[in-house]
Amino acid sequence: MPRAATATVTASDSAAPAQPPGTGLSLVQRALRKLGLVRDIDFALYLPMRYEDETRIVKLADARDGELAQVEGVVMDCEVVFRPRRQLLATIDDGSDTCQLRFFNFYPSQQKQLAVGARVRVRGEMRGGFVGRTMMHPTVKAAGTLLPEALTPVYSTIAGLAQPVLRREVRSGLARAALDETIPVQIGLQGAWGLREALSFLHYPTPDVALATLEDRSHPAWQRIKGEELLAQQLSQLQARRERAAQRAPALRSGASPGSLHSQLMAVLPFGLTGAQTRVGEEIARDLVRAVPMHRLLQGDVGSGKTVVAALAAARCIDAGFQCALMAPTEILAAQHFGKLIGWLDPLLAERSLRVAWLTGSQKKKERDSMTAAVESGEAALVIGTHAVISEKVHFKRLALAIIDEQHRFGVAQRLALRGKATQGLEPHLLMMSATPIPRTLAMSYYADLDVSTLDELPPGRTPIVTKLVADHRRDEVIERIQAQLSQGRQVYWVCPLIEESETVDLRNATETRDELAGSLGAHVNVGLLHSRMPTADKQAVMAAFTANEVQVLVSTTVIEVGVDVPNASLMVIEHAERFGLSQLHQLRGRVGRGSAASACVLLYAPNEGGRVGEAARARLKAMVETGDGFEIARRDLEIRGPGEFLGARQSGAPLLRFADLETDALLLDWARELAPKMLAEHPLLAQKHVDRWLGTKAEYLKA
Ligand code: ADP
Ligand code: MG
Repeated sequence: MPRAATATVTASDSAAPAQPPGTGLSLVQRALRKLGLVRDIDFALYLPMRYEDETRIVKLADARDGELAQVEGVVMDCEVVFRPRRQLLATIDDGSDTCQLRFFNFYPSQQKQLAVGARVRVRGEMRGGFVGRTMMHPTVKAAGTLLPEALTPVYSTIAGLAQPVLRREVRSGLARAALDETIPVQIGLQGAWGLREALSFLHYPTPDVALATLEDRSHPAWQRIKGEELLAQQLSQLQARRERAAQRAPALRSGASPGSLHSQLMAVLPFGLTGAQTRVGEEIARDLVRAVPMHRLLQGDVGSGKTVVAALAAARCIDAGFQCALMAPTEILAAQHFGKLIGWLDPLLAERSLRVAWLTGSQKKKERDSMTAAVESGEAALVIGTHAVISEKVHFKRLALAIIDEQHRFGVAQRLALRGKATQGLEPHLLMMSATPIPRTLAMSYYADLDVSTLDELPPGRTPIVTKLVADHRRDEVIERIQAQLSQGRQVYWVCPLIEESETVDLRNATETRDELAGSLGAHVNVGLLHSRMPTADKQAVMAAFTANEVQVLVSTTVIEVGVDVPNASLMVIEHAERFGLSQLHQLRGRVGRGSAASACVLLYAPNEGGRVGEAARARLKAMVETGDGFEIARRDLEIRGPGEFLGARQSGAPLLRFADLETDALLLDWARELAPKMLAEHPLLAQKHVDRWLGTKAEYLKA
């Protein structure tokens, strides 16, 4: 099940995949589903993040400070005290020594359990101390129950799903799961652990295991599981590649004659292409002339000039006599493309009796009908819009190229729908664009069968953006900065944080900020407001006013997150910057520094009550100040968040490598690479079973 991209999808008109219907499920089931636990095999493959050793009871006298210990003793006393703050204090004695138990949060039931004279089994970290040895918030059970033979697994869980419940669900899922071997003995790993054996061990290892080999996943049981996972990944990539090789796309041979749309577009561009744009343009051109569908990701930092590359690819497609679709995740963004491309292309298309069509969900029926008619007749050579472009009611005459901007915000279903727009059995070529560079190793492992082009050069004449951290109580200085920019005729963005729980609160905050800024900047300055709750037409009107410099300061929630292009804006203020993700901050910052004026980004942060900013937040802010390079930002983001989350927020439904690591498991990867083609050729049914088991419904996503 895809994880919804809650972190990045904020605008209400964005193309987020619909939430799966959760009605009729119990709370526990719903929580399990959130963790991706549906099939028995999902449970079996949900491995613990660590273990607790409840197999032994130690004597208090032998328990060492700083270590986890499980002891059994008699409660000597138990009382609630109020100094220095309300807490439950108990003392136990096991004959060898005594120990204090201390709880700051406790339930009456815990108090009851610790009745004086009761024999209890207590587990917690032993601390030496001034007042004697103590355990803080230990777990307490009645003493005397049977000790388990295996270590106790601890699974990563979420709110609403208690560890014991999850543990029980996983245990029964594991018992039920069909775990027959899929890797044929004759070509597989000789002498390796069996699948059931390995999984059972990893959930319930024997206490004599060297824990370090479980932690670093070097244990033979881990090797077996990681090998399986890598094999599934290799198999599904091979399958995807073969499927695509069997597909046909229109070969777009257009030639570069002087009268071509492509040449004319080059001539009207107000600038020359960067070396990177030229190179990437050629890479795309080479794909388009082939009769196999292109499947290319164009990644380039914010402001690297992806739109022009897209326009040139579209021109090639139109030169060959076909249609091109360009989609963006929101209407605002689509409108920006539309504005720019229409300026460049419309006159040139008109000479050819062709036009640009515009399709969005909020369109009036009449306008929409005339647009779809133009698409159907082929008169609309270029179709721009939101996911409305691929709605069932839109029939292309001969679609040959589909371009998706900010592809990470598109759901997989939409990408599949696009592929369904094939005409005469010919698939459209697909160009996806992303401003969030994906580190190379991740690109290779998560995007099966995807060619990647990179714009690694910014257009000339950009001055680097200076990024400053400013504590929230120094807002006055920020107002001065804004005034300085305004007096030079420049414009300013002010981004309010999104408070996820409530759009109403958001709107109120943003409105207050707008009024406050309008008050301190004076009547001669127009302060506009952009919020995801606003009707699209209003949003567009505000954007247009900002673009025309009728509005000088634009207060907005993160709807401007992607793609907006107003080169005269030279200052970006981000309020509560500590609440934003790193890539999001970088994207936001990319809205300035688009012209030649020196630009700045002010990150306003509010320390919490303790006067501190959390560690991860601090690492994010530090990265922002230290680098403006999108690749470096992506690398640090990956470091701060880890690969699962890094991709989770971007690529809903991307099959993640949960266990294996491409670098440390290079040997296993080699093994899987070698085995995959053999297995597909000699044991196709087992290969399919293996992929289904590991990727389940995710296998579909790989092909998208
Ligand atoms: P992004 O990659 O973020 O989508 P855009 O395509 O919006 O970037 O381009 C950012 C800005 O740079 C636009 O104003 C665009 O017209 C301009 N631009 C693009 N390519 C060049 C170039 N080769 N030289 C100068 N300016 C360029
Ligand atoms: Mg863009």
